Amino acid sequence: MKQLVILGSTGSIGTQALDVVRHKRDEFNVVALSAHSNINKLVEQVKEFSPEYVVIMNENLVSELKDRVSNIGTKVLSGVEGLEFISTLHNVDIVLTSVVGMIGLRPTIAAIREGKDIALANKETLVVGGSIIKDELSKSKSRIIPVDSEHSALFQCLNGESRSAVNNLILTASGGPFRGKKKEDLTQVTPEMALKHPRWNMGRKISIDSATLMNKGLEVIEAHYLFDVDYDNIKVVIHPQSIIHSMVEYKDGSIIAQLSNTDMRHPIQYALEYPNRTESLIGYLDLIKYNTLTFEEPDIETFECLKLAYEAGKVGGTMPAVCNIANEEAVDLFLNNKIKFLDIPIIIKEAMNNFKVKYEFDLEYIINLEKEVREYIRNIIK
Ligand code: NDP
Ligand code: MG
Repeated sequence: MKQLVILGSTGSIGTQALDVVRHKRDEFNVVALSAHSNINKLVEQVKEFSPEYVVIMNENLVSELKDRVSNIGTKVLSGVEGLEFISTLHNVDIVLTSVVGMIGLRPTIAAIREGKDIALANKETLVVGGSIIKDELSKSKSRIIPVDSEHSALFQCLNGESRSAVNNLILTASGGPFRGKKKEDLTQVTPEMALKHPRWNMGRKISIDSATLMNKGLEVIEAHYLFDVDYDNIKVVIHPQSIIHSMVEYKDGSIIAQLSNTDMRHPIQYALEYPNRTESLIGYLDLIKYNTLTFEEPDIETFECLKLAYEAGKVGGTMPAVCNIANEEAVDLFLNNKIKFLDIPIIIKEAMNNFKVKYEFDLEYIINLEKEVREYIRNIIK
């Protein structure tokens, strides 16, 4: 039995992971869960999975949560320290990082230092701390098994092949809700419009990232750190059916692709069970139903965020962190109706121009950088 911790169990990935566990009770035991504020969902999960620990980020909810789970015997913790604590428990095998945003960085590093395997959904963590995480991994027995569907696909397509045989990683993108639109069509986009994704049902932040194509940009950086491939050899292709989750093009001209239903429980199950494969929870792909698979070039003039992420990745050092932090802040502002949809790339560009890149840095530096970049953006908005 694998002993599992889920950071962000009340979110889109977290609840789907628990659905996998629900169907694979003989494979997994849930040791700890965490949420930010959704106490009702968390209590429901505690009742169903009886974890040893729960972490609630929102300090104001600690005593209520204690009252509500006391009869189950689950211990209640809070804060990032709580996330670090549950990620390093001696009996834990694998930590699913499904919180949203770079808050996942500290617990992920703590878990790697204790040799835990990481099922990584939380891409922002790798984007801001890629070099630190790689350094920690080199000193640890931990493995990162990607949950992001594209990276799960690449991981599966690369299986057993020599890295020198790889020509390009080809990430697929659905194109989001505004595929085919031009900038002039996007001046009046509201959060409600941007939150409607054509293929995936996801959390709010990643839904906005999918609409701007920043999600794909973050995934390009994620792929660079996960698979050690240069940015010039990481390509993005729009594939609106979202059936091919990504591909590897080899030097000999072969392209190996991974296909499956558009359901995150598939890559979640793969990451949690790795290296085993057991019966699918969601059924098998009906190829006849999807009789046409199409591909298009991404429009990086309209969806500038993708271009900015490539730029940040190529500059390297702290630039991907600045790009990610600026994006997190801009998405918050957009979701709160403080800026327009098309302001998102403008703000990110401003931040990337303003913050000098640094090539030697540690975790404390990144945590501080978050405060500085967010403050800088709040000031320009004022
Ligand atoms: P959600 O917004 O649905 O869920 C986020 C989870 O993190 C919730 O449990 C939430 O708690 C918790 N959380 C939010 N803010 C904080 C915080 N400051 N500190 C601690 N916990 C917090 O996000 P998703 O599940 O959509 O995404 C999670 C991660 O997975 C993201 O990094 C995303 O990019 C990545 N991902 C998601 C995919 C998807 O299909 N959804 C696909 C591929 C990657 P509460 O519910 O209480 O707010
Ligand atoms: Mg993805």
